[in-house]
Amino acid sequence: MSIGATIQFHGAAGEVTGSCTLLTTPKARILVDFGMFQGTPADEARNAVAPRIDFASLDAIIITHAHIDHCGRLAMATSLGFKGKIYCTIATHELLGRVMRSSARLQRARFYERSSGSAPWSRALMPGEAPGVAPEFPPAQRLFDTPEVRDTMDIIEGVALNREVKIAPLMSLTFRNAGHIPGAASAEISIGVGADRKIVLFSGDLGPTHSALLASPHKPARADVVIVESTNGERRRDAGADPEAKLAEIVADAAARKAKIIIPCFALGRAQLLVHRLARLHGRGLLHGLNVYVDSPMAVHGIESLYRNPEYLSPELEQSVRAGGAPLWFPELHYVLSKRESMAIDRMVHGGIILAGSGFMDAGPVMRHLGESIDRTDCIVVLSGYQPDGGFAWKLQRGADRVQIDGKLLPVRASTVRVEGLSGHADQDDLVKWLGSFGEKPGRVLINHGTDAGRAALAARLSTELGIECAMPAYEVPIEL
Ligand SMILES: [Zn+2]
Repeated sequence: MSIGATIQFHGAAGEVTGSCTLLTTPKARILVDFGMFQGTPADEARNAVAPRIDFASLDAIIITHAHIDHCGRLAMATSLGFKGKIYCTIATHELLGRVMRSSARLQRARFYERSSGSAPWSRALMPGEAPGVAPEFPPAQRLFDTPEVRDTMDIIEGVALNREVKIAPLMSLTFRNAGHIPGAASAEISIGVGADRKIVLFSGDLGPTHSALLASPHKPARADVVIVESTNGERRRDAGADPEAKLAEIVADAAARKAKIIIPCFALGRAQLLVHRLARLHGRGLLHGLNVYVDSPMAVHGIESLYRNPEYLSPELEQSVRAGGAPLWFPELHYVLSKRESMAIDRMVHGGIILAGSGFMDAGPVMRHLGESIDRTDCIVVLSGYQPDGGFAWKLQRGADRVQIDGKLLPVRASTVRVEGLSGHADQDDLVKWLGSFGEKPGRVLINHGTDAGRAALAARLSTELGIECAMPAYEVPIEL
């Protein structure tokens, strides 16, 4: 049955980045997410090409959460002619200004580094692999700067979870908790009035069904059309993984040897999950006095955001925060907010734990920490989650014996350990469970934000287990809903 709307995917169709979806009705035009393409230099070059959308005719832009692949190009919208309003949750609103400003700073730094030939680089080398020269970087793109970020922040409206707001003629929006990172929400869009009201639900990125830290994703009552993500469409979590027990083992080993633990992690998501697990180890007397350094201002904002917006926490932690508790705090926790402090922690001598970005070990302060310690036996590198094939972390995990960091060749003497079960993403089982949890079976399901293999694997399970036939939209091809 038609609901009289059209949907068009301008990103994240058959891939996991660049989320950007246009929804059009006879009365309204809105965009859901305006994210960056990430990955290879060719992917990144696509960011400078504006999507074929008439931004001046848009009524609103909705941002589901503060990850770059969902909001990274938002600050380009006003320059492209957008005159409407931007909606996101209150918690995402608090994070967005910082995310966009730090993205503008990074673009500026990259631009100068690449034009002056001083761009930082690193490479892990497998046994027998010869060291190489610095890679050739394509010229860096500058998509926006601080003035555009300011213009964008002026037109954002933060909305509380579960509160319905009118965003365009005959169209309203309600954010539902997605359980993915602080502030992350699914966007429930109502079209029309009275008995004719139709619901289009964008899942955004969903968290796992059960997270020790965050609330479970909201169980929707009904939707005529669901656009569901499939980042982990073909992956299933190891049900037996016990990340806390594994971390306890690593911490005990480090404490006994006065070793340093380096954990590469993403600022929004993984960092908060880790701090929570480490807080629990402290509570159980298993941290052995090791200091924990969170070397990422954005990760710190993510932690603080959970205190200000406890509705994103699991019921138990929410209750604790509302009663004045601080479940993500422990005396050994230190926030590193400047480069000088970040350099100082490299000189620590009695062991400790450093959480630093980037999670893929392709840039950021974690590379400097590794450059200081990877050639030492009293260093443990903890890896978790997905790592891009052939990248630095991927090779390290598979026995790379040397690394090049900014041209310096170093032997790998540090040990590498994996910790499973620290994902902020729903896996295949969680996605099936979420779609099966609706009060009424969804009318129509479109799968985006996943590789074609991931989408096909999820579609196959939804068909056999829930009797739901899914569509896999293609890039820019309009679909009548
Ligand atoms: Zn995300």
